[in-house]
Amino acid sequence: MKNDHLSEAEIQQYALGTADLNTKKHIGSCAICEAKAANYRLIFSEMDGLLQPAFDFDVASLVLSQLPQPETATDRDERWLYLLIFGALASISIPVYIYRLYFFKMFTGILPVSMFLVILVTLFIIVFQGIEMFRKYQKQLNILNYK
Ligand SMILES: [Zn+2]
Repeated sequence: MKNDHLSEAEIQQYALGTADLNTKKHIGSCAICEAKAANYRLIFSEMDGLLQPAFDFDVASLVLSQLPQPETATDRDERWLYLLIFGALASISIPVYIYRLYFFKMFTGILPVSMFLVILVTLFIIVFQGIEMFRKYQKQLNILNYK
């Protein structure tokens, strides 16, 4: 008596409608495999029903409409900041490049101790200017955020 039941893969193929002739013949004569195929068909149809409604609406537009808008304003501000930094660097580096011979002579002529002092004072000024700038930026951000 040769009555091997179908494998799970064969039954799934039958449920999806892609089974070969032997599988169809067996299902037609076997109640157990037919019941399994019916179960798979039910599961597949339920899954089709589940997957659709999750992406029925436009998720991107829904989320974007709820996001705050000041993004573009800060982008423009940042562009101005970069332009300002570039301008400052250019106004320093171009003269240094043009007068580079005099520039290096100027530094070699200074005593090492006074050179150290000049660097120290310059660093202090840069650090305090940076802190001040950061504080001002934070204050402006706070004003923007709690308006
Ligand atoms: Zn069977």
